[in-house]
Amino acid sequence: MSSARVVVVGSINMDMVAHARRLPRPGETLPGEDFQMTPGGKGANQAVAAARLGASVSFVSRVGTRVHGRALIAALRAEGVDTTHVVEDESALPGIAVIMVGREGGENSIIYVPGSNAQLAAADVQRAAAPLQQARVLVAQLEVPQPAILEAFRLARAQGVRTILNAAPALAVDPALLALTDCLVLNETEAAQLAGLPDAVQSAEAVARAAANALQAQGLPRLLITLGAQGVLVADEAGQRLLPARRVQAVDTVGAGDTFVGGVATAWAEGQSLDEAVRLGQAAAALAVSRVGVQGAMPRREELGPDFA
Ligand code: ATP
Repeated sequence: MSSARVVVVGSINMDMVAHARRLPRPGETLPGEDFQMTPGGKGANQAVAAARLGASVSFVSRVGTRVHGRALIAALRAEGVDTTHVVEDESALPGIAVIMVGREGGENSIIYVPGSNAQLAAADVQRAAAPLQQARVLVAQLEVPQPAILEAFRLARAQGVRTILNAAPALAVDPALLALTDCLVLNETEAAQLAGLPDAVQSAEAVARAAANALQAQGLPRLLITLGAQGVLVADEAGQRLLPARRVQAVDTVGAGDTFVGGVATAWAEGQSLDEAVRLGQAAAALAVSRVGVQGAMPRREELGPDFA
């Protein structure tokens, strides 16, 4: 266990999930079978993953409190995440995902309202300069505006804080942000898109290796390209290597990427090597996918066993 300091800059959402036998057609009302309301957002998920794995986590975000925002903040605090630098906006909605799940076809439909996530500004990040500059590792994803992330990375870089950019969802990334990124984490689809690879019928590993070559040629020093149950392609100055995932019975892989990023950030902040950080991230993600849920499925450090104490 450690109190390695990690700052996460990113999104926070309330996911509202209604289950029915099938999805309704336009204009149709169907009886529902179940409903859950759970906190999400890649930023909040990664903050919780790192906190459960023993990091001392500060979250930098903007949360609309018109509905559900206070509950989202309370849920993070209950996980031990420092929310001092979460800006509350009484006039805004938080991020909200309204998800309908049809049991028979296993399909879903989602309306995502970005709400206050889209309003996170460089000025909000500047107010969090103190924790950002005292962190060991800063983590961000692409569900909040890139100028805010860029400001955070500038503040961090000025103090030698290591930066991890999880380039998800798949979007164009400001080259200035990539230039301040010490470790880029993304799945193979996101990597192929960011590298501008043409659509090709190749194995996931071959796509990841080609994307890694292209991104390393752009000057990115460290890349972690996740390949689901196959593991992670690591690319750094020592070359490329595939570190296999743990073999588990997967029941719900939603949030695997966020658990992995939280684990990598924690171990890297503890001073472990990149490969050791990947090992911790993969052990945590493997346990998370073997359970139902997203934040609720993320493991605590002691569940990973003595190898990871
Ligand atoms: P998501 O968007 O669902 O969170 P992702 O596409 O960002 O996922 P993945 O590549 O699916 O990320 O998974 C991240 C990591 O989680 C993998 O590199 C692996 O270590 C672990 N993982 C995912 N699926 C499995 C699985 N079925 N068995 C074991 N480990 C898994």
